[in-house]
Amino acid sequence: MNLTEILNHLGEDPESYFGAVVPPIFQSTNFRFKTLKNLRLALKDETQNPVYTRGCNPTVRILRQKVAALEGTEDALIFSSGSAAVAAAVMSVVKAGDHIVCVQKPYGWTAKLLNVALKNLGIDTTYVTGTDIKQFEAALRPNTRLIFLESPNSWTFEVQDLKAVANLAKSRNISTIIDNSCATPLSQKPAQVGVDIVVHSASKYLAGHSDVVAGALCASKERVRDIFYGPYMTMGGIISPNDAWLMLRGLRTLELRYNRSCESTEKVVHFLENHEKIEKVLYTHSPRFAQYELAKSQLKRGGGLFSIVLKTTEISKIEKFCEGLRVFQMAVSWGGYESLHFPACAFYTSSGSSPGSLPINMIRLYIGFEDANILIEDLKQSLDSYC
Ligand SMILES: *Cc1c(COP(=O)(O)O)cnc(C)c1O
Repeated sequence: MNLTEILNHLGEDPESYFGAVVPPIFQSTNFRFKTLKNLRLALKDETQNPVYTRGCNPTVRILRQKVAALEGTEDALIFSSGSAAVAAAVMSVVKAGDHIVCVQKPYGWTAKLLNVALKNLGIDTTYVTGTDIKQFEAALRPNTRLIFLESPNSWTFEVQDLKAVANLAKSRNISTIIDNSCATPLSQKPAQVGVDIVVHSASKYLAGHSDVVAGALCASKERVRDIFYGPYMTMGGIISPNDAWLMLRGLRTLELRYNRSCESTEKVVHFLENHEKIEKVLYTHSPRFAQYELAKSQLKRGGGLFSIVLKTTEISKIEKFCEGLRVFQMAVSWGGYESLHFPACAFYTSSGSSPGSLPINMIRLYIGFEDANILIEDLKQSLDSYC
């Protein structure tokens, strides 16, 4: 289906709500039935029938159809956060005694889920660099049930060969999950190359306005049904109808927002790659990127997220540069309207000791909707003054 059709019309049915062109917020916990026959019918498939809002809510159901169509999967579920979606996906495939292979440095709270919550339940994880299929193969054990991918990584942007990993997993009867937040379904549809479950932090590009925390999970009908009657309903990490409505509104402009962010990013990256104070720019769609060919073959566009490494490793200079930025705001997250920077030195003490896993002089940048020239000017003035 055409992208603009999905974002603007799919799943909507104005006739069933007085012709309103904007779907209403069905702010109702429960839905009534006049006959037992109809109640029984509805209870047969709570994945599709509004009975109770922890299960199926009509506003949320519109979102599910749109997000599933975006990823090209049969169905989808929407969660109260990306982390809830990740946890539900992982919990749907592993049990005590199982083993997981995961790419190195996944999103921090994904790592915590694997290293603490699941470890405590008797599930072990092996991390692999993920840049070569042989690393996955070597890490597999007889009890490996899951390969978890994040491509690109949202700090250092390593990508994995999705088709090769999906094929390897299928040949061993292992499930695959990918965190596709960074790429968005506009750039990459992992289910089409055989990845089983695609998860998103919808708090980023999908909702897109820095005002909703939400998550999404896309998979086959069968898997979504299992997850619905499993972790989704039992742990109850659902999105509220109100937030679902905000996400619906955000999705209308997904294509416009994403393309704008990509276009400006290309300009800013070009500027930074040619600046003498910059050691390196990590952007998947720069010819200087280590995995440029693979990235280009899997990802339509580079997105608005990338990292820079300053030449200086002096923490006082790094701090001055960051605090000297006037348009870029210092904050976590990304995918909204506002350009951001998030310095890795925030994970270090102010004296520069207690190193994190990222280089002290690495800074993640997100390019929002401000004019690219204003953003370049901002970076220029702070680099020239402080680095
Ligand atoms: C933000 C993020 C998450 C977590 O999503 P929340 O919506 O914040 O729970 C997971 N993965 C990636 C890559 C993210 O950037």
